[in-house]
Amino acid sequence: MDSKLTVSVSQVGRVGKTTATRLKKLGIETVRDLIFYYPSRWQDLSQISQIAKIQPGETITVRARINLINNRRSRLKKKILTEALVSDNSGSIRVIWFNQSFITKVLEPGTEVYLSGKADYDRYDLQLINPVYEKVGSADTVHTARIIPIYSLTSNLTQKQLRFLIKSVLPQIKSIEEFLPVDVIKRYGLLGIQESLAQIHFPENKNLLHQAITRLKFDELFLFQLQIAKSRLELDRAAAEPIPFNETATKNFVAELPFVLTADQKKAAWQIIGDLEKSRPMNRLLEGDVGSGKTIVAAMAMLNVALSGKQTVVMAPTEILASQHYQTIKLLLEPFNFRVGLLTRSHQYLGNEKSNKKELLNKLKTGQIAVIVGTHTLIQEAVDFSDLALAVIDEQHRFGVDQRRILTEKSGHKKTVPHLLSMTATPIPRSLALSLYGDLDISIIRELPKERKQVITKLISPADRAGAYDFISQQIKTGRQVFIICPLIDPSDKLGVKSVTSEFVRLSQEVFSDFTISMLHGKMKGEEKEKIMGDFLAQKTQILVSTSVIEVGVDVPNAAVMIIEGAQRFGLAQLHQFRGRVGRGQHQSYCLLFSENNNPTTSQRLQALLTAKDGFELAELDLKFRGPGEIYGRMQSGFPEFKIAKLTDQALIGLAKQAAREVLQQDLNLDDSISLKNKLKKVHLE
Ligand code: ADP
Ligand code: MG
Repeated sequence: MDSKLTVSVSQVGRVGKTTATRLKKLGIETVRDLIFYYPSRWQDLSQISQIAKIQPGETITVRARINLINNRRSRLKKKILTEALVSDNSGSIRVIWFNQSFITKVLEPGTEVYLSGKADYDRYDLQLINPVYEKVGSADTVHTARIIPIYSLTSNLTQKQLRFLIKSVLPQIKSIEEFLPVDVIKRYGLLGIQESLAQIHFPENKNLLHQAITRLKFDELFLFQLQIAKSRLELDRAAAEPIPFNETATKNFVAELPFVLTADQKKAAWQIIGDLEKSRPMNRLLEGDVGSGKTIVAAMAMLNVALSGKQTVVMAPTEILASQHYQTIKLLLEPFNFRVGLLTRSHQYLGNEKSNKKELLNKLKTGQIAVIVGTHTLIQEAVDFSDLALAVIDEQHRFGVDQRRILTEKSGHKKTVPHLLSMTATPIPRSLALSLYGDLDISIIRELPKERKQVITKLISPADRAGAYDFISQQIKTGRQVFIICPLIDPSDKLGVKSVTSEFVRLSQEVFSDFTISMLHGKMKGEEKEKIMGDFLAQKTQILVSTSVIEVGVDVPNAAVMIIEGAQRFGLAQLHQFRGRVGRGQHQSYCLLFSENNNPTTSQRLQALLTAKDGFELAELDLKFRGPGEIYGRMQSGFPEFKIAKLTDQALIGLAKQAAREVLQQDLNLDDSISLKNKLKKVHLE
């Protein structure tokens, strides 16, 4: 049964090698992938218009008969135009297609067709321009005269192609099993899985489309909430090693710092230390803007753990971040004679000495290392601790839900689980964090250290671009470095939007040919990215052009200018995060926002970056300003990645949470819920 779903797309009619490669770029490799590739939006072309009533500028569908159709060459350009005259019982209209001469072979006088497209004036006459056409016949329409799916596409695939493919594999939906418990479906009035998948692509009507969307969103949220509820349940039953608070040493630690802690830092540290003293596992999120000083706070916890003879693991998303954490923590804890190690793929250190994996693993196991810092992959390796009591996780989605489970097995304890502290620079409004994660404890550092210089932020109009470039040149000449963020990777991704690759070429050839420029984007390999970031950190390059992948939290004190292209395309909280990557050294820093459109709502929204006092205020504004299409958080860490569910689906999040709890409650045998999870995974994540 299932085998049909795992069939490669290349076996589906009309898919050649090129198309298969293009589909793969979208993550589509099998029939199942096609079915689960949801449209990003829909267009309602189900209303059939009377030709006589068409207004210019409207996108409409007509049902008409072809009266005349033929090809000719345009006079000026050598394009082939296909012209037709079509009519219904209300009137007739001219239709024009560009460079699709084959249409005359498909449509001939007398054929009855649906035409969907935009009507506009050509000199005097209203005409339909490049409409999508489908013959009126027995089969269902796919492209016209219905609510049509619109998929997000890249790399030369067309909507028509994808619709055709999905339509042709749709019969395979019948081998997809329902996996939600029957009573959940009933109680929450959900559409069945097969019906939902059929309707999401080719909805019969708005109501069914809505129900399909709801059901498929519910799946994602339910799966997520099931994992959260399950780990919460495990946590409620688990014990942790209580860590006594060593007041004297902690005071000494604070007194030795070259600065005074902010009130928020003190409060957060106090909350964390309080959690550690308990014999139930800490589950706390430490939120704070980039540069707000989270590391010091975490180090105070590590100090107390080390003083009680136990170990801490610190996990960072990248090697560079791991190295930076290691440097900081080493400086802070060495005066107390604790050994700090670094374990990443390419670097192994113990104290100030180069080390190797074998030595580090051995010393961790025998308890000679107090704090080990590494990348997240670290925990997938054969690391064994002698006495792990605290895990600090930086910038990780889903706040360590999975990590704790893995670490528990390696902690050297059978009966207790490590305390967990997640840190993020993503300012997640408390309400949002709580609705997603339930009873997660949260500490927030809002206040930046006093002596921090404000980053000067400016909105730059297209007319001022040249002036801004002069300014950047001057900054580089005085020794500073510059980040340039672009919304896209390839120019082909979307017309008119600055892409990293084209900006890189343009800037290095035309604008900043005197300087060294490098480029960074998410399609690069991890190692390549690390190298480019490393070179920038070492000041080997002066300008770094990047997509939003540029790592959160990396400290490049010499970078003083942050340029953001297409600023209107980013959420405020994310813009704020980009800005946080400058202003980390002693130099006055700048953030210049370029925006391609000048409409008042856009500038009003961006203006908030000049006035809001911190990332949290901006995150709240994001929630408020966010239009239906805008994504919030998809590119930021700290949020689960959903395909269709949105963080604004608050009501549905609540229902999914309730359903997940009910399911777990009904069946407190955890093994069964794991198998339910596997079933869900099988359907949605394979
Ligand atoms: P985060 O991880 O929150 O982005 P860090 O912990 O890396 O921030 O701190 C950023 C910088 O600010 C570090 O150089 C740190 O030494 C410094 N710092 C931290 N707390 C203070 C403070 N209270 N006053 C002044 N500087 C501070
Ligand atoms: Mg940090």
